[in-house]
Amino acid sequence: METMPLLTARTQHRPLALIVDRDGDTRKMYAEYLALSKCLIEEAEDGREALAKAITRQPDVIVTETRLPGIDGFELCTLLRRDDATRTIPIVVVTGDAFETDVRRAQEAGADAVLIKPCLPEMLLKEIHRVLDLSAALRERARVTREKLHTQLARSETLLQRTRENIRRTMLIRAHDRRDTTAPPLAPPALVCPACDQALRYQRSHIGGVSERHSEQWDYYECSTACGTYQYRQRTRKLRKV
Ligand SMILES: [Zn+2]
Repeated sequence: METMPLLTARTQHRPLALIVDRDGDTRKMYAEYLALSKCLIEEAEDGREALAKAITRQPDVIVTETRLPGIDGFELCTLLRRDDATRTIPIVVVTGDAFETDVRRAQEAGADAVLIKPCLPEMLLKEIHRVLDLSAALRERARVTREKLHTQLARSETLLQRTRENIRRTMLIRAHDRRDTTAPPLAPPALVCPACDQALRYQRSHIGGVSERHSEQWDYYECSTACGTYQYRQRTRKLRKV
């Protein structure tokens, strides 16, 4: 039997093919043929097992029947295409349903190639070659596109974040009511004059700071023996002559 040795030459590593068919003999037939052309083989007999193996083994290609117990081949395609871990794995559907609608349905579900049974192993191998070639190029293109998109998204996300922060800050600053008051939020402490030790007389407070959240309060005092005006900063609890 003549096999195509292209797989190893092209991909460097031996491609792993996941063969999904409820019929053991069919799996064996395909597996033996593909193994001759240096494919590594994994088998699954139903959709659920195929899904699990696709996620864990990350095959280079999945070959599946449409008629499977439980999750059928169409549904399997849909699920594989929906999962980030399996989205780009090429799928070859081999179907006993020769109806045009089934072929279209498989394609719409995400199959890269649809073969009608009875399908010779050579045909299958040829399709596998084709989708592997196609998918390598497509995957590379998808990867570049995805990276570009990520960079763009990250950039616009940063911009958006910055804009939001700016708006928020501006609103807070605008909403922030800077004022003089004699009824401030924080009680002005009883203080003595650092120069003469006499009681300081509270005059007023100034409410300021960069925003409502970072609001600050300065209390102003006069010395009762006319040493001057003092400013007490609530945040630092420091008294200084002004
Ligand atoms: Zn004084």
